[in-house]
Amino acid sequence: MAEISGLKELIDLLPADTQIGLIERAYTFATQAHAGQKRFSGEDYITHPVEVAKILATMRADIETIVAGLLHDVLEDTTVTRPELVKEFGETVTFLVDGVTKLGQLKYQGVERHVESLRKLFVAMAKDLRVIMIRLADRLHNIRTLNHIPKNKQKRIAIETLEIYAPLANRLGMWKIKGSLEDSAFPYAYPKEYALVVTLRKTKGRESVKRLEKLYRTLSREAITQGIKDIKIEYRIKYLYSLYEKLKKHDMNIDQIYDLSALRVIVPTVADCYQILGLIHTLWKPVSGRLKDYVANPKPNGYQSIHTTIFVGDNSMAEVQIRTELMHEKAEYGVASHLIYDEHGKTKKTRLTDPKLAWLNKLLEWQKHPHQSEDYLAILKTDFFEDRIFVFTPKGDVIELPVGATPLDFAYAIHSEIGDHANGATVNGKFVALMTPLKTDDIVLIETKKSSKPSVKWLEHVKTGMARKHIKSYIQKLN
Ligand code: MN
Repeated sequence: MAEISGLKELIDLLPADTQIGLIERAYTFATQAHAGQKRFSGEDYITHPVEVAKILATMRADIETIVAGLLHDVLEDTTVTRPELVKEFGETVTFLVDGVTKLGQLKYQGVERHVESLRKLFVAMAKDLRVIMIRLADRLHNIRTLNHIPKNKQKRIAIETLEIYAPLANRLGMWKIKGSLEDSAFPYAYPKEYALVVTLRKTKGRESVKRLEKLYRTLSREAITQGIKDIKIEYRIKYLYSLYEKLKKHDMNIDQIYDLSALRVIVPTVADCYQILGLIHTLWKPVSGRLKDYVANPKPNGYQSIHTTIFVGDNSMAEVQIRTELMHEKAEYGVASHLIYDEHGKTKKTRLTDPKLAWLNKLLEWQKHPHQSEDYLAILKTDFFEDRIFVFTPKGDVIELPVGATPLDFAYAIHSEIGDHANGATVNGKFVALMTPLKTDDIVLIETKKSSKPSVKWLEHVKTGMARKHIKSYIQKLN
């Protein structure tokens, strides 16, 4: 039977000490619950939860998460009840399944159901991050099988994946799943652009891979003579969608993209990272201004690696990324890797004290207030998922804002009263207009004046949904 082979493939992905009995029990339970149900592809429904569990296994999820992955649709799509699930698999697994279950069709419909389900997902995710791993794995399998879904739904699902789920994976530092989600959704969301990027990457990528292979050989040989042991070298080609996003910033000119492919060097210790960097810069001339040391200065989401670009002959360049094994795992699996590495005993609860998850706290705080469904989605995208800058108050508190945000956004992020009466701003000690876009590391001070008040024009100069909302409601009150 095809399904049983799916189970076998799943088991093959799990560590040898896994309790296979529990996996088999969940598999049998899910098979019976979904009996008679089919996917759009015509396959038995059980193939879907099995594939989701397999994706989770490759993300190194623990056994409770895998079991929940097998069972993730039983509460939503079958007659199985919560108490039955608790009885069979316990509270934790049931919590995980419940966390990814959409709200009943009867109470909510359409956009509203979608929004309320997201709201619920974030609450569950804050209690246990494994909920989001399951939701992302579920979405990845659904998007990979999107060709079987009715045409009129494909584009909507693909765009939602690009706008909500991939950015969510990105915010959690889960690059591997972010890249897979985007590349699977890309052809359905923007077919023409997809075809163009595929062609560009094919033509240019071939040359650059050839160069990297040569580089690879030289570097491996030299590392050995230098006595650097346990070095792992691999090369990666940029994901299609992230290449597309970068091309958009460079007039679609592929010659402007220096990291189309990159050599990745993985070594045991931080000291090895710098030794390898020294070796590389001795062998090849570095391109000036392209060295970035995210090992000493990690990115705000925790990403660590040394990036450098080197000249490799015939006027061509190549990017090299150097990191330790641990940094590599964290980059691939993001917060999910906390669950793998920071696990003490049995507690695997999300620790919202982690500064990388501060945004999730803010999101939970914000979504407690009532919002129109459309507003909720718009603010979620702009205020929580877009690329971020980090600016400071004069006291040194960090305020996180979307790229392009202005002192007005900053003022509203501090307090609506400060926004409503903002009169001027000082950035790094210099007086600037309230509409000036801010950059990471700016120190911002807002001057207020009682007589100052929002104008319609302000709406053109704010980036955050929250600022927009406050300005609109102030203007409405005046009229
Ligand atoms: Mn599902």
